[in-house]
Amino acid sequence: MVATQSSPASADTGFIFSMPPAENRFTEDVFFRRLLAWYLPSDMCAKIEPEFTAFAEETASEQVKEWLLSAEREPPYVKSHNKRVRAWGAANGAVAIGYETEYGSYRRIVQHAKNYFFTPVSAVTSCPLSMSDGAAHLLLEVLPGLPLSHPFHEVFRRLTSRTDCWTSGQWMTERSGGSDVQNTETWAVYSPLPNKTGECGKLDEGDYLVSGFKFFSSATDANVAILLAKTAGGKLSAFLAPLTRTVLDENGREKTVTNGIRIHRLKNKLGTKQLPTAELELKDVRAHLVGPLDRGVGTISHILNVTRAWAFIGSLAGMRRCMNIAKSFAKARTVFGYPLWILPLHLRTLAGLEVRIRGLLHLGFYTLALTSFAESTFPKAVLESSSYAPLPSSAEDTVVILRTLTAVTKAVVSKTAVTAIQECMEALGGVGYMDELDEPENIARALRDISVNAIWEGTTNVLSSEVIRHLLNKHHLDIFNNWLRSAIARVKIDDLRSVLQDAWAVQYRLLSKQREYLFDALANGRAIMFTIAWTVSGTLLAIDAGRDGNPVAGEVARRWIINQEGFPREYLLADMDATLPSRRPQEGKERAEWDCMIVWDAKLPEFVPFGQRTGVQQPSKI
Ligand SMILES: Cc1cc2nc3c(=O)[nH]c(=O)nc-3n(C[C@H](O)[C@H](O)[C@H](O)COP(=O)(O)OP(=O)(O)OC[C@H]3O[C@@H](n4cnc5c(N)ncnc54)[C@H](O)[C@@H]3O)c2cc1C
Repeated sequence: MVATQSSPASADTGFIFSMPPAENRFTEDVFFRRLLAWYLPSDMCAKIEPEFTAFAEETASEQVKEWLLSAEREPPYVKSHNKRVRAWGAANGAVAIGYETEYGSYRRIVQHAKNYFFTPVSAVTSCPLSMSDGAAHLLLEVLPGLPLSHPFHEVFRRLTSRTDCWTSGQWMTERSGGSDVQNTETWAVYSPLPNKTGECGKLDEGDYLVSGFKFFSSATDANVAILLAKTAGGKLSAFLAPLTRTVLDENGREKTVTNGIRIHRLKNKLGTKQLPTAELELKDVRAHLVGPLDRGVGTISHILNVTRAWAFIGSLAGMRRCMNIAKSFAKARTVFGYPLWILPLHLRTLAGLEVRIRGLLHLGFYTLALTSFAESTFPKAVLESSSYAPLPSSAEDTVVILRTLTAVTKAVVSKTAVTAIQECMEALGGVGYMDELDEPENIARALRDISVNAIWEGTTNVLSSEVIRHLLNKHHLDIFNNWLRSAIARVKIDDLRSVLQDAWAVQYRLLSKQREYLFDALANGRAIMFTIAWTVSGTLLAIDAGRDGNPVAGEVARRWIINQEGFPREYLLADMDATLPSRRPQEGKERAEWDCMIVWDAKLPEFVPFGQRTGVQQPSKI
């Protein structure tokens, strides 16, 4: 209640703003459920629904809030609370679902659909879990060639376990560089133990001794780490090392000591403060070679594809969570005598964010679907369906398209999430900027934590260079072109299809021409990559809208494609300006009605205030 002249406000009386209780993030998310219904069979959707509803509920429980609070309060050291959040995530299958058989070929989709609820409340333990997932994926590649006595079998079991889960670090970045690891100053010497156990040795009996300095280690409290080091020939190889090893003390009793790893210092960072990110000095770390000798970069790329998916899911989930907070605030806040949720400009701002989230969620889940099917098999049902998302036509094409889209999605989602979250922050006014430790709905913290996704696992420019080099290599551009052209041809809405066709034709022409001018293509790389993301997302939005004629899906696709709304237009190629249609003018009430449907899934009330003290009527409540 607002204080009157006779009863002035005090610290605890007068108007006190309170946020409405958070709604269930799964049941309330109309669009996310629609997306899952596109990518998963209906019986699987029905099966996961109760589990996801309960899990989403749990993410807002007092227990989880308490864990998050202690993760914030206590400085990150190598033990403590964070492990409880991580164990909770692991028990809920954060990594395991990607390896269990329960969801068959759809397992990566289900895994990350669940992680969409986990990552925002994971106290950034999603980072070590993502690296563990990456390490497990790498081990899965090499295990078939190893005897059953090899310790990697047990490491794989532990990394993918729900109950006695291990984590893995990933030590690549050095002072000499993270994007370019060729200058690595860590060396591995072949020095097998004369009396190792069995043919392969135990986990702490690897054949190599590794020494050097690793500049960034996020999973300082991990059980194992995958690292890069040079061997005698000066080329990079990948190794797996346990962080501790067992030795005998003076009384012949076993004791656990560090495996030659010394924490030089913990880093001070803008965000991810809950994680102990350290600089590590390695001295004779006993390690096993992973994958072929001198093929370290290729070996480690198995990890990167996995961790990049975690990065973009984290950013997508972060955007959605911050948008939910902004929406809750708008429902509760009154300005100029009206509820904020209905003020036309505020509504339009939120609609722009919602369009961005939907477009990028399409890109993310399409990439996850391809990842999932490429790792197992393409289900017969999706191959035979004419309404499923547009799939590549062969295994070779899948590899090319997936590699492109994993890098594009990670880069574009991570980058655009930062400005989206800043917008959500501003939507709460000054409250949004607050960084209260005990406030779980903390957008400031999300902004700090999520910003790192644009840097680790490849910066935006590094990923765009990767995309360009990959597309201009061999006949990859033709493969991508064939897939995207046939995908666009499936858009049923004529004007949307025509804009997408023209837009892709310009990009294809430009890229084909730039085969001879790699310099130019690389210099233009960022704009090319963002334009590809815009085109693919637009195609998916439009195909989805055409599936059932859903009017809101149609309006979102139209805004994305015709008006380039939701997506930062300045990131698009300048060459597109002449091709894209003139932006649709703002059409008054009808447009506001769509804004309302997009944001609130509800009709605009009869009376719409201006956001100034002019109106007299009160709009109805949402
Ligand atoms: C909080 C945090 C935790 C981290 N945890 C880990 C970890 O656990 N393990 C680990 O190995 N690393 C970790 N990193 C390191 C991270 O992966 C690197 O910072 C990142 O890969 C970039 O490498 P760099 O810092 O050496 O920057 P550089 O490679 O020096 O890049 C500097 C600039 O050069 C640009 N650049 C580089 N190459 C190109 C190119 N070809 N074209 C155009 N521009 C280019 C980049 O975009 C960037 O803007 C972490 C980083 C942070 C911030």
